[in-house]
Amino acid sequence: MDHLDGLPRPDVDVAWAERTALDLFGLAGTATELGSQQDRNFLVSADDRRYLLKVNNPVFERAEIEAQNAVMAALASAGLTVPLPQPSLEGSPVSSVEIDGVAHHVRILSFLEGSPLIDAGYLSDKVMRQLGTLAGRVSQALESVTDPGLERWLQWDLRRGEQVVARLLPHVQDAARRHAIESALQEVRERLAPRASALPVQAVHGDLTDDNVVFSRDAAGRPVLDGIIDFGDASQGWRVAELVVACSAVFHHSPYRPLAVLSVIEAFDAIQPLEDAEIDAIWPLLVLRGAVLVVSGAQQVAIDPDNEYASSADDREWQMFAVPAAFDADVATEWIRVRLGRTARRAAAPVVGWLVPSFDGPLIDLSYASRELQEGSWLADATGEERRILAAAAAASGAAATRFAEPRLTRSRINDTAEPVNASLAIDVVLPAGTELLAPFDGELRPLGEAALLMGETASVLIAGLSRPLWGRVVGGSPMGMTSDTVTLWLATGGIRRMPPRFVRPTELDAWLTRYRDPAPLLGLSSTRHTRPDTATALARRDSAYDPLQAHYYARPPLIERGWREHLIDVDGRHYLDMVNNVATLGHGHPRIAEAAADQWRMLNTNSRFHYAAVAEFSERLLATLPDGFDSVLLVNSGTEAVDLALRLTKAFSGREDVMCLSESYHGWSLAADAVSTSLSDNPCADETRLDWVHVAPTPNAYRGAHRGEGAGAAYASDAIAQLRRAADAGRPIGTFIAEPRQGNAGAIEVPAGYFASVYDAVRRGGGVVISDEVQVGYGRQGDVFWGFQQHDGIVPDVITVAKAMGNGHPLGAVITRREIADALASQGTFFSSAGGSTLSSRIGITVLDVMADEGLQGNAAGIGARLRTRLESLAERHPLIGAVHGRGLYMGVELVRDRTTLEPATEETAAICDRFLELGVVVQPTGDRQNVLKVKPPLCISEASADFFVDVLEEILVSGW
Ligand code: PMP
Repeated sequence: MDHLDGLPRPDVDVAWAERTALDLFGLAGTATELGSQQDRNFLVSADDRRYLLKVNNPVFERAEIEAQNAVMAALASAGLTVPLPQPSLEGSPVSSVEIDGVAHHVRILSFLEGSPLIDAGYLSDKVMRQLGTLAGRVSQALESVTDPGLERWLQWDLRRGEQVVARLLPHVQDAARRHAIESALQEVRERLAPRASALPVQAVHGDLTDDNVVFSRDAAGRPVLDGIIDFGDASQGWRVAELVVACSAVFHHSPYRPLAVLSVIEAFDAIQPLEDAEIDAIWPLLVLRGAVLVVSGAQQVAIDPDNEYASSADDREWQMFAVPAAFDADVATEWIRVRLGRTARRAAAPVVGWLVPSFDGPLIDLSYASRELQEGSWLADATGEERRILAAAAAASGAAATRFAEPRLTRSRINDTAEPVNASLAIDVVLPAGTELLAPFDGELRPLGEAALLMGETASVLIAGLSRPLWGRVVGGSPMGMTSDTVTLWLATGGIRRMPPRFVRPTELDAWLTRYRDPAPLLGLSSTRHTRPDTATALARRDSAYDPLQAHYYARPPLIERGWREHLIDVDGRHYLDMVNNVATLGHGHPRIAEAAADQWRMLNTNSRFHYAAVAEFSERLLATLPDGFDSVLLVNSGTEAVDLALRLTKAFSGREDVMCLSESYHGWSLAADAVSTSLSDNPCADETRLDWVHVAPTPNAYRGAHRGEGAGAAYASDAIAQLRRAADAGRPIGTFIAEPRQGNAGAIEVPAGYFASVYDAVRRGGGVVISDEVQVGYGRQGDVFWGFQQHDGIVPDVITVAKAMGNGHPLGAVITRREIADALASQGTFFSSAGGSTLSSRIGITVLDVMADEGLQGNAAGIGARLRTRLESLAERHPLIGAVHGRGLYMGVELVRDRTTLEPATEETAAICDRFLELGVVVQPTGDRQNVLKVKPPLCISEASADFFVDVLEEILVSGW
């Protein structure tokens, strides 16, 4: 039976549903309506359990409904979670009731808890694979199901898709959309016709969409697919249609990544291996499925304007059509074959002649590696790129070309959540104006879009910018037209049906390369191809040669080879906002540092046993940032060395071995620095391997520690003082107290007011001295103060350790103290570090301070930091996952918790959120012993727009999931 005239839902309401549940099934419960296109569905809650009351459209026959029950039973016995029919009071799984004099079939089904996948928002690759696996298992379980009730006429059956679309197309109101569907349908028809009869047919669920797959969330808040609902479209159908329906539902979740559905296809194929004809049919069927949805939706709105369920789906359905329709089906199909491990049908490289007899211009490097592109010049618009190409030609003999398969830096953007569309599928060639272009093979020259297409037996050449084209049949070697100034060339194996893109996303490049080739032979060149470094190979080499003890961020990290200001750039030209590089204070690629370093290398670089001015100047400049009393600087190469040396000084000065430090801290990796490092995330064995001279006081965390809120500072201080006393009483008086002025490694945690004043005082009264480790949180980062200790009223440490920011990444560290303390070490000899305070290091240290002052970076940290805090706090009001925003200036921590009362750390969520951040173009990492704090410590030059981008992306993740 043909239902194409539309099927309004049965006219019943909630009160009717409650009555029916009671009368037929003995269920006394409350009903609420759920959406449906053609039936009526009610959720009935009775006796702590929930059921689905389903009233089928009267056009459906009993046999069809019984067949659905058979399909559910088959899936349940294959171990899949599905609703199951509950017998009525009369013992039947299908009952019949009259509504307005017409018999309707009614069932009560067990209700599957969970939400439909459509509500999951973001679908990760893992979830896509789960979906493919689920579809594969359904298909496998239904292989042997035969039931006469499955022989039905359904408009969703893609075997009738073309007919359905043609018939319902007039319901689509928008003429442009109608036209787009019509022309896509033409292509679908051509592609399916030769394959349709070879497609296997079997029982299918037929509607495995994101509406009908339900999910729950794992401990990390990631979706886990649980079960399948809605068997109303179960029928006989093409086996591959089961997969197509599932894939189609994925497009609107990530519309700019059409090939993301490959993961669904791969997972399906692993369970239900696809035949060749099925693989070839996938892409055209995806377009057809989208078209069926659009026309059916339009029709449903026309006949049932009050059905919100139908009208709200409009845009989503359009995407389900438009996304696959916009993608080249030949390329997609070829790529599916490659990914499924089938022999690709790749044609051999086409043999072509010359387009121009001699080309001797340079090939222009527009990749990440270009040394011509500097200081962000690539971020100018695309006309800058064109100027550059023309200038290169002018500097040569009037000719130049760009490179094939090159992700161009010039086509990428900062602060963009999407991967750039920047990898060249064509090359731009500048030739002296009026150069005659010759046909590289026999063929037919005809217009395609704005370009000229020469299609031959085995290859096609597409030329944009051909002037005075000689349309029609051309013989290889004869003229086709000439150049104006720039022409763009594509070379493809086989024919070209539609205008290809000039640029594609780097992750889709390999798919396009199954059909598009380097046009080099057209110019008589052997290659114009850019060799993209292979990120996976580079990682394997790193893991084998560079000891993995030195871990890297991310399981699959991008290969980062360039930086500019607060952005990191990978070899595909993608710009990631860098929220973690507190070392590159001035930003990446700062020209003044580069110049100072190059200049100093040419002049002199030697060690501080020699007498040169820079080491004195740098030391004076450091002392000038500090209050009176500090008069001695010792220069080393890292934070670890600074801490190690500082401990030697304070031990010598106090004459005591014992040191007190705080829990959850990190101070470095040398024996001594590691001994006072208590962070369990850096060293899980820290507690068991503690040396006897180390005394650990609890980190004074007023958010989640033993003492909270007001008065926490005094309470923690009194605990620490008691501990000092106990150590002294036990004959191990503390000589050194070392702490960060803000608990940086613990997650930018504020040290509560009064704590340091009391503890410093007690340590000194007991004969000890204090070290403020400013390696991470000092040097202007907190905005309102240059040194971290200055944020605590009235305290001044005896020794400061600093590194990281002071060299902007160049190895540079310092211990700053009073002469009397440094003198204590003199009894043990002199101190010398070969590279510490070298001419080069001193010069760089001075330049960093100069740039910080000239660019007002400390002020920027204060201003942007305040903005970030306000925005993050407002985000916290809307998202309970954010338990607290710690820190100030550009040293902050966003602490994520599962529960604001128990403060259960959201550790897995934090890791997953960081991975999603990377996908969206932001580098953020977890920190703290519980790894549940997002560290926020970008280069100090970060712009307001970038800071806003970070918060916007965080919000997007919190809203759409991870
Ligand atoms: N102290 C603190 C507070 C640190 O955060 C670090 C490094 N994370 C160090 C010392 C050690 O510095 P480096 O890595 O330069 O040796």
